[in-house]
Amino acid sequence: MTVREALGQGTARLEAAGVPDARLDAELLLAHVLHEDRLRMRLDGARALTGAQAECYDALLLRRQTREPLQYIEGEAAFMGLSFRVAPGVLIPRQDTEILCEEALSRMKPGARVLDIGTGSGALAVSLAKLGRDAQVTAVDISDAALSIARDNARRLGAQVRFLQSDCFAAVAGEMFDMIVSNPPYISREEMESLMPEVRSEPELALAGGEDGLDFYRRIAREAPEHLVEGGCLLFEIGWKQRDAVSALVRESVGETFSLKDYGGNWRVVGALRR
Ligand code: GLN
Repeated sequence: MTVREALGQGTARLEAAGVPDARLDAELLLAHVLHEDRLRMRLDGARALTGAQAECYDALLLRRQTREPLQYIEGEAAFMGLSFRVAPGVLIPRQDTEILCEEALSRMKPGARVLDIGTGSGALAVSLAKLGRDAQVTAVDISDAALSIARDNARRLGAQVRFLQSDCFAAVAGEMFDMIVSNPPYISREEMESLMPEVRSEPELALAGGEDGLDFYRRIAREAPEHLVEGGCLLFEIGWKQRDAVSALVRESVGETFSLKDYGGNWRVVGALRR
C-alpha cells in the first residue's frame, strides 16, 4: 500500500465513522506513524508503507474511528507554540485558551506571583512560567492524574512551576498572588448531554460545572479577594454564553471587569482587577 492509497483508505474509514475533517486526521495519523511532517509526507505519495507501518496506521485509525480524540492518540497537543503531553485524565488544551494566556502575559509584571487553578495538563501554568519574565507560578489541581502529567510537561519544557494537589484554594491558604488564572469546568448539566463524542472521552471532572455551569466561578470569585493583592488581576476562561453571568459574579466580589473574545469571535475571557 502506498502513502497515497493509505490516505485514501484512512479518509474513507474516518468519514464513515463521522469524524469531522477526516482527510486531515488521516494525514496527521499517517504522518505520526512515519515520524514525518504532514506536508513533507505528501510530497512522496507513491512510496510503499512497510508492513509494520501499515499495521500501526491501522491501529491508530481504529482508535480514531471510535472517536477517541486525535490528541490522545498522538499523545500531544500544541498550545502557545509548545508541545504538551496529553492523555485521558486531562483536558486537551484548546487554541481558544491562548487568548487568556496572551492577556495574562501582557498584564504580568516581571516576577509576578501567579496562581493557576485547575491546571490540568499544565498548559497555562507552564506557558506563563516559560513566556513570562521571572514569573513565580503556582498551579493547583484536585486530580493527581492531571498533576502528574502537568509536572511531566513542566519538566520536559524546562519550566519552573510549583504544583500542589488542591481543591481550588485549599492548599494555598493565607498566600497572596498578583494574578489568578483559571479555565475551570464550565459546561452546564444540559450541555453535558450533547457533547461531541471526542469531548466525552475527556474527564468529566474538567468539564462539568454543575447545573448552570457556573459552580466554579462562584467559588473562585468568592474566595479570590483573600488571595489577590490590591490591583491584582483575576482572569477566567468562560463558555461563550457566560459573559454576563460571570461578569456579574466577579464584579460583585472582586472589582471592575473586562472581557475578551477569542479568534473565533466568541466571548472567551472575563477578567477583573481587585478593588
Ligand atoms: N472549552 C471546552 C469545551 O468546550 C470546555 C473547557 C472547560 O469546561 N473548561 O469543550
